[in-house]
Amino acid sequence: MSNRNWTFQTKLLHNDHKFDPVTGGVSVPIQHASTFHQTNFDEYGKFDYSRSGNPTRDALEQAIADLEGGTRGFAFSSGMAAISTAFLLLSKDDHVLVQEDVYGGTYRMITEVLSRFGIEHTFVNMTDLHEVASNIRPNTKVIYMETPSNPLLKITDIEGVTKLAKANNCLTFLDNTFMTPALQRPLDLGVDVVLHSATKFLAGHSDVLAGLAAVKDEELGQKIYKLQNSFGAVLGVQDAWLVLRGLKTLHVRIEQSSNSAMDLANYLETHPAVEAVYYPGLSYHPGHAVHHYQTNGHGAVLSFRLADEEAVKTFVNNVEIPVFAVSLGAVESILSYPARMSHAAMPKEEREKRGITDGLLRMSVGLENCEDLIEDFKQALNKLSPRKTFQKIQ
Ligand SMILES: *Cc1c(COP(=O)(O)O)cnc(C)c1O
Repeated sequence: MSNRNWTFQTKLLHNDHKFDPVTGGVSVPIQHASTFHQTNFDEYGKFDYSRSGNPTRDALEQAIADLEGGTRGFAFSSGMAAISTAFLLLSKDDHVLVQEDVYGGTYRMITEVLSRFGIEHTFVNMTDLHEVASNIRPNTKVIYMETPSNPLLKITDIEGVTKLAKANNCLTFLDNTFMTPALQRPLDLGVDVVLHSATKFLAGHSDVLAGLAAVKDEELGQKIYKLQNSFGAVLGVQDAWLVLRGLKTLHVRIEQSSNSAMDLANYLETHPAVEAVYYPGLSYHPGHAVHHYQTNGHGAVLSFRLADEEAVKTFVNNVEIPVFAVSLGAVESILSYPARMSHAAMPKEEREKRGITDGLLRMSVGLENCEDLIEDFKQALNKLSPRKTFQKIQ
């Protein structure tokens, strides 16, 4: 890797893998081999077996390490495989402090799987550093963050949490799926392990499941490598290639989608059928200042609240551009209904308490022309009755 101080945008395209050293091919070769011939009895080459290491996967692992400002990267078969493997750093009787509105799959892993192995957890409101501090126990080994959170885009002060963690000898993990290293670089803010569902913005085209992890500390990197190899949930080579291909356009995709998300958020709050808009780019969003400080942009995901389920149904049946689906972070806009999708397992009362009402919709803004998007939202929203109140609070 060249030491030149290139910007993120340039680094996406110009790295050690910009051409194949054997043929000059301007694309990373897909190496399907599961095993590698050793030419010398006494000296084995860099690769021996593809679970332990594979050149195509290695290219992606180096790419994410470099983009996150780390020393080691790891590619897994899904975001959950990356997150679950990182949790294998914990042992029986350890305790993990987790953000209360963490991703549903992570919630399930912690509450239903880790608990069976004697790993304890406490859910806290991560936006409140006092609450974080007062819940750290002598056996707390990991503090787990996700910022912005899903679906209400709550913001955690990353440096605030990493300082608390360091003072108490615990590691910090951060799920950076919503931001990507294009907008937020947690390792630079003191986070130990950054995690991704590369299924979302990094790959970006709704056509691959993948997970990534990156670390700065080499010793920690060695531990995760051992866990990756032991657990074996590695990313296949075709999928590694798809993520590498998606990464090349990450910067332009996220920039355009974030700009459109800002315009859409501004539009939504003017529409009389919209009761609330949740987007860190809005100046009154409770996390706006912290988010602005720790990122290069507001991101492409926002949520908004309509009156009730009936209003949501009418809107979804009339809006034409976004696909109505789970997931996010793609070239096409994706509209999701948390109450029936990501948070369906949560009792209604719990959901409402967290602000995930039956009227809440989440929108991941894609690459469509923003005026078309706004026009489409307008015609669908115009089918609804005007709101009773507009709430400028989270
Ligand atoms: C989708 C998602 C995951 C899980 O990733 P998979 O690739 O679906 O396993 C984890 N965290 C966040 C924030 C996500 O959006």
